[in-house]
Amino acid sequence: MNAAKRYEIFRRLREDNPEPRTELVYSTPFELLIAVILSAQATDVGVNKATARLYPVANTPEAILALGVEGLSEYIKTIGLYNAKAKNVIETCRLLIERHGGQVPDDREALEALPGVGRKTANVVLNTAFRHPVMAVDTHIFRVSNRTRIAPGKNVLEVERQLLKFVPKEFLLDAHHWLILHGRYVCQARKPRCGSCRIEDLCEYPEKTAID
Ligand code: SF4
Repeated sequence: MNAAKRYEIFRRLREDNPEPRTELVYSTPFELLIAVILSAQATDVGVNKATARLYPVANTPEAILALGVEGLSEYIKTIGLYNAKAKNVIETCRLLIERHGGQVPDDREALEALPGVGRKTANVVLNTAFRHPVMAVDTHIFRVSNRTRIAPGKNVLEVERQLLKFVPKEFLLDAHHWLILHGRYVCQARKPRCGSCRIEDLCEYPEKTAID
């Protein structure tokens, strides 16, 4: 894909949604971090339902740590893998207090040292909470980047590198959200809705469908 096409794709995505936001509900970097840890293999809607009950009761490392694994599990048991996630969240809270004064670190290495926080989660927090131009590649972004040929790659790390290289600078801060939303609602895994896709004429996917 050439640079002019890439530019036009992001220009249109921005035109349709000038201020894209994550669909996870949060009000502090800590709430975002916990929501992202909980969202692994779960839907944002499911996570939001759980955090809507949890955060009014406990939305700081100290308060969640005080709940303990069992207490926290009560709030998140509707989310897949809740037991393992509860353990990770409690340990993360403990480490945030111990190493970072109860604050979420604005630093990749420190974030990735927390349990339940891998490269993708760290990238989401760095981009969404701290506004670094980094790219968290999830299943939607991986699919959209490959189908459109915006940033093809065999694995998520390759796609991440390609996106950082090819997304025009002015779109880099928000590209993550535009691509996720496009993948979630238009370029869906089983049946991409090419018939009503804003970038259909620019997309290089050879198997475009007429579905809208
Ligand atoms: S045209 Fe189809 S394959 Fe290409 S981005 Fe749009 S929905 Fe996805």
